[in-house]
Amino acid sequence: MSLPTHVPVLFTVLMTILASGCGPQQTARNPPISQLSDVVFPADQQGPEVSGDEDADQGKWIALFNGKDLTGWTPKIRYHEAGDNFADTFRVEDGLLKVRYDGYESFGEKFGHLFYDQPFSHYRLRVEYRFVGEQCPGGPGWAFRNNGLMLHGESPETMTKDQDFPTSIEVQLLGGDGTKPRTTSNLCTPGTNVVMDGKLITVHCTSSTSQTYHGDQWVTAEVEVRGNEVIRHILDGEVVLEYNQPQLDMRVPHSRVLAERNGSNLLSSGTISIQAESHPCDFRKIELMVLDPPEDKATAKVMQDKKKAEYNPLTAQEAYVILRKGTERAFTGEYTDLKEEGTFICRRCNAALYHSSDKFDSQCGWPSFDDEIEGAVLRLPDADGRRTEIVCKNCGAHLGHVFLGEGFTTKNTRHCVNSVSMRFIPKGQPLPPMIVGNASDAE
Ligand SMILES: [Zn+2]
Repeated sequence: MSLPTHVPVLFTVLMTILASGCGPQQTARNPPISQLSDVVFPADQQGPEVSGDEDADQGKWIALFNGKDLTGWTPKIRYHEAGDNFADTFRVEDGLLKVRYDGYESFGEKFGHLFYDQPFSHYRLRVEYRFVGEQCPGGPGWAFRNNGLMLHGESPETMTKDQDFPTSIEVQLLGGDGTKPRTTSNLCTPGTNVVMDGKLITVHCTSSTSQTYHGDQWVTAEVEVRGNEVIRHILDGEVVLEYNQPQLDMRVPHSRVLAERNGSNLLSSGTISIQAESHPCDFRKIELMVLDPPEDKATAKVMQDKKKAEYNPLTAQEAYVILRKGTERAFTGEYTDLKEEGTFICRRCNAALYHSSDKFDSQCGWPSFDDEIEGAVLRLPDADGRRTEIVCKNCGAHLGHVFLGEGFTTKNTRHCVNSVSMRFIPKGQPLPPMIVGNASDAE
């Protein structure tokens, strides 16, 4: 917490290291084979239909999977770049999110993951899944009827092209072979560890106490995730596995890099992804309910807004910063040194955020302002527990962070903003109309 000014620089340096793939990630090499699986989550096909169960008063179930297409999701398949959905591995047909391998000659360890485009920290996740058909030729034996929900994960952008599994906490989904017992909703820990009963658990997988689900039946798996405090795996309303303090495994080089970047080895939030590990699998619901911590309200708001407004389309880089709260590299943004007169608007919703008259030269590598347009910017505790995040009040777009007391200007305030979160409109040109999120009911 010493010098907030340096934090963004540190992040940028580390991100650069990650992007350059300096350490091969080992998440999948050390793991005992029988443990890998990733899956996706539950979303309602038709939108936010709430089941009205006893938890409904805590929030609303939100459909992460819309039942129509892969909007909001990004594939990352091993040996391919993020965004390349090799052989149409992840597809939507008949309202189902299907994981298929009919375009593969042989599986060839091309482990795939489908990432939801926003991170979460406190939530309940509910999926309905089933295994179908025959395993892809060349798939590993342990991957028979195997998928998983990867939680508190890294982003597809920090994975290297050759990386097999995202560093994450995995709720392993397994199907029975028709005879032998085989639990599901197990825990696997690619690049991570957890604490159980006060002890650090370093084995790669831990079985749940579940029954066996044979055949092609639909199974509803649920997970309750409360930041770094506790994660509970739930089946048929019963907790079948519970643990605390999910954390990066500091024995793994790639995890150490992520820990440096996060400023901690503890995992309190991250991506959600489902898997493609060689056995065909369907998901018919992937649903999420945000639980109460204040920092998640912005996420909830963004989710609500996404349903109701057509914001400006975003490039992958813009989405990385605006939706996934990433940071552009220092001294690379198009507006860092801009001194022209005009107005900076939100790139996503066009809301006017900053006047050029409040911009100053901080030498920090990002556009800096000592004041915002009144009511345009919301301040939130950052997920890192140290900084203060700033988001567009209208649409929830991530802008950057605000730092106080550095003495740059008489207002003693520095809004450190990513250029890609904004668009500059020179003085004299008309401002485009703001796209209203209509999120007044979001909270
Ligand atoms: Zn906005």
